[in-house]
Amino acid sequence: MSDKINLDNVSVVLHRPRYPENIGAAARALRNMGMQRLVVVAPENFDIERVLKMATHSASDVAEAAHIHVNLRDALSSFNYVVGTTARLGGERQVVSSPSELARRLVPISHENRIAIVFGPEDRGLSNEDIRYCHTLVNIPTAEFSSLNLAQAVMVMCYEIFTAEVRDQESERAEFMPRLACRHELDGMYDQIRDILVRISYINPENPDYWMNSLRHFFTRLQLRAKEVRMIRGMCRQINWYGKKCYDDGKGEG
Ligand code: SAH
Repeated sequence: MSDKINLDNVSVVLHRPRYPENIGAAARALRNMGMQRLVVVAPENFDIERVLKMATHSASDVAEAAHIHVNLRDALSSFNYVVGTTARLGGERQVVSSPSELARRLVPISHENRIAIVFGPEDRGLSNEDIRYCHTLVNIPTAEFSSLNLAQAVMVMCYEIFTAEVRDQESERAEFMPRLACRHELDGMYDQIRDILVRISYINPENPDYWMNSLRHFFTRLQLRAKEVRMIRGMCRQINWYGKKCYDDGKGEG
């Protein structure tokens, strides 16, 4: 017996696609691999006729049901686990897995968590800022020329996800993955931590993102659950309350 990915919990997110044909071809790849959740963020030159031509009749429903968002943060807010895909490596793109390795890791995660596989625009790929939303990165190995056509990259990922299997003996050993905090909960927590750390002068208000990046990496590694995020936010609120109380008490004495 073996365990497979819960495909209902996996969405493909296309960030700023420039060519409507690629959205259609991606919808077709999803349909081929038994998936149906397509999210499109800030598409350029959007033209449903051109989308549907490449989706073909079989995947027209996937294309037509695609959720359109204006920015990546909103598009990812309800997801618990975010995977970024990148042709480029190095810099902030250090720890990367192969598509098959990643797909197997997603098996236990997919039972309780909504997963987004994010693809970047055809010309530039995902920016460093986009990558900060991701729990992990994946690279499709190639010969020297590393940049695949967007819809073909979607196909490779969907194929690996569709065929991934974890045998029972392995899944017993694999740690059960409970529901993780969703992006909305995490983003709210990061905003709150940044504000409080600026207020207590722990981080430089001129460049809070520099320090916040290290903190994001740290928390991403921990894979926080919703309950843990609530606990951290509660501590921030209490620090805020205490700071204000000390200030008010001090005023009273003066
Ligand atoms: N010129 C861009 C490539 C953009 S291709 C760059 O250098 O980053 C459009 C998208 O397809 C990428 O953002 C990524 O999501 C996906 N893609 C293309 N080639 C890939 C590869 N080898 N591995 C993983 N994803 C890839």
